[in-house]
Amino acid sequence: MLFSGLLLKWGRGKMRYEAIVVGAGLGGLTCAALLTQKGLRVLVLDKDHHPGGTSYVFQRGAFKFPMGPLSFSYPGYASCLLASLGIKEPLEFKRNHFQLITGDLDLVYSVAPKELKQELARKFPREADGLEAFFQDLQKAMKLVHDIYLWHPDYLPEKLSPLQEKVVQTEYSESRKTRILSWSQTFSGDVLRKYLNDRLLVNFLDSMGTGEPVMSFLTLAMMWNIMAVEGIWYPSWGIHGISDRLAEIIRAGGGELWLGMSVKKIIIENGQASGVLTADDNFIGADWIVSNADAKTTFLELTESRAVSGEFLEKVRSTPYTGSELCAYLGVDAEKIDLSQIRATHLFYCARPGQVEGTGPGTDGLNLESKEIEVCRWTDNEPGQAPSGYVGLILRVGFDYDHFARFRTGEKKRTSEYQAYKTELALKLVRIVENIIPGLSGAIELMEVATPLTYRDWGHRYQGSIAGWSWGADWTGNFGRKLLVETPVRNLFLAGIYAASELFMGGVPTAMRTGELAASLILRNIV
Ligand SMILES: Cc1cc2nc3c(=O)[nH]c(=O)nc-3n(C[C@H](O)[C@H](O)[C@H](O)COP(=O)(O)OP(=O)(O)OC[C@H]3O[C@@H](n4cnc5c(N)ncnc54)[C@H](O)[C@@H]3O)c2cc1C
Repeated sequence: MLFSGLLLKWGRGKMRYEAIVVGAGLGGLTCAALLTQKGLRVLVLDKDHHPGGTSYVFQRGAFKFPMGPLSFSYPGYASCLLASLGIKEPLEFKRNHFQLITGDLDLVYSVAPKELKQELARKFPREADGLEAFFQDLQKAMKLVHDIYLWHPDYLPEKLSPLQEKVVQTEYSESRKTRILSWSQTFSGDVLRKYLNDRLLVNFLDSMGTGEPVMSFLTLAMMWNIMAVEGIWYPSWGIHGISDRLAEIIRAGGGELWLGMSVKKIIIENGQASGVLTADDNFIGADWIVSNADAKTTFLELTESRAVSGEFLEKVRSTPYTGSELCAYLGVDAEKIDLSQIRATHLFYCARPGQVEGTGPGTDGLNLESKEIEVCRWTDNEPGQAPSGYVGLILRVGFDYDHFARFRTGEKKRTSEYQAYKTELALKLVRIVENIIPGLSGAIELMEVATPLTYRDWGHRYQGSIAGWSWGADWTGNFGRKLLVETPVRNLFLAGIYAASELFMGGVPTAMRTGELAASLILRNIV
């Protein structure tokens, strides 16, 4: 036991809130802002010294870079939510586009499905008929998931508008439910291969890159709906600006934000969450606890294992998260590089598609040419975050946590070889990307490198995971429900990207939506 009964007794009644939110990421902040707006006495605690969690920015020299998200989908949802909190300042969004360069393929794919189909048919003329048939199926599924609240009963808003009520009554027909179930159990690779032969094309349509198919057909439809229909956008305040506004609302409403204060344990008594134990061993009581820490951290580290059933714990333990990445943040002299091949804010580039990757444990990770590297023109979104004459570029590539685990000797502690090793890998990425950005190596003024260890120790994510629970078809539906906001522990809720058990609206809006849902579940119980 990390805490004693005596300590609990001592602390009880001394410090007490109606709700404690563990984590000031977008999920936690959204929840806390909505609760303070309704007059609840709220405390938000975060390990970090800034609000916003991974959606914040950090400074290196004269440059600022994002810790995590680069842009996000469902901008209308975020705007409405922020407006409902009384923020009058207009929030505008700029569309971000996505491009793939691999082998002979070079296309911007964040376009309407019809346009994409035509472009692909031009590039793969032998596959034109197959593309026609595949897009027919895909668009049927996309139509089904288009209204995020209506595509599955688990996602319904608490209060239906009259229109939604009508749609639910008419649309939740047995045939719709059957289609949803069947597509969620259909492997996307099987649908693609039924119609198409070209491996590059199949892999592109499944992963928007070069990866082999992994997900269900319904998740695939969800992903294309986000990319091609909803679009991916960057807000005029910056994503960090949204966190700052939410933190202001919490403070203005009388809520408290304790930054730089870690929670060691969420205390559960008789099956009900009753408070938290802070890093400095203070017990703080609350009627409601919302954990914005990811689900594995919440149930495998912050709560006692006996607080939930063995079956639930095993699901949390065994269901994988999405992986992590190596990321090079570059401050670059704009005069010295040629960006003419980069036609979108985000480019995915694979120098040698189809080769076997080599980055697991026991390999040296040198086969980077076979991996898909994301190149983001970061300062296209935020020009003010680089000095005049310079641009901020971000190179990201998926990497196993295990590959770097040997360098970690403790929290934020590394072996002496780590720095040189990650720098060497980042420079390899730079040299590969130089194929499409001539002059890059010689133009770098500043480079910072993040690895899965960074996302673990600074992002506080379990094994540095990035994009929520696994998108793999084998795992989808493992929890038997799509949202994990309600937990098996009474008065304990989850908020944040890991509170959705599969790909939902994408990272930022999922974090906000689950925060909103946690707040409404608490308020429903109070009113
Ligand atoms: C590298 C990277 C790239 C990403 N790119 C995108 C993108 O382009 N688009 C997108 O939409 N999403 C992206 N995401 C996902 C992104 O994380 C989410 O969109 C969003 O920021 C998640 O918010 P959250 O509230 O779930 O969690 P987080 O931002 O992870 O916040 C959780 C908070 O909980 C705190 N915490 C954890 N444990 C404790 C504890 N014990 N005590 C106190 N505090 C604790 C952490 O310090 C953190 O501040 C990316 C993530 C990463 C890491």
